[in-house]
Amino acid sequence: MKNVNILDEKFYKDNKIDAVIFDIDNTLVAHTEPTPPENVLEYFDFLKSIGIKYSVVSNNSIERVESFCKDLGVPYYGKALKPRKKYLKKVLAEMNTDAKTTALVGDQLFTDMCGANRMNFLSVLVTAVGEDETSFVSFKRKFEKRILEKNKHKLKEYKGDGVVE
Ligand SMILES: [Mg+2]
Repeated sequence: MKNVNILDEKFYKDNKIDAVIFDIDNTLVAHTEPTPPENVLEYFDFLKSIGIKYSVVSNNSIERVESFCKDLGVPYYGKALKPRKKYLKKVLAEMNTDAKTTALVGDQLFTDMCGANRMNFLSVLVTAVGEDETSFVSFKRKFEKRILEKNKHKLKEYKGDGVVE
């Protein structure tokens, strides 16, 4: 999947999703962007216009997440240690919704997708935006690629037709 913009109204309707949790780095923006760019703000406005709640949960530093999210008016957590459930649970409670109607959108298997699956969220993997931020992440991606290839049949991927396959 290319990026979050492909998640249209049909995606939320067809999958009965009323809330979405976003990762930040390489999901919404490249690692270097301190605040949400216009296209991300427009996407958030779109979510509001169709009544979808959203929030942000990132493993990056609290300062980075604060800078990105402070003006959004939605729940957010930094240093969340995904795939741990603690902050995913908290944010779910703050959005006042259920796991089964919540999607988590992220770019990494071991943190985002694993966390989503542990919470029974709909897990939505996006293609990483921008460059890999650290050599550790690019190291992990090599393994992710292998796992992705092996588990292609099990992974849900949204192709823009409303159905997550
Ligand atoms: Mg990320």
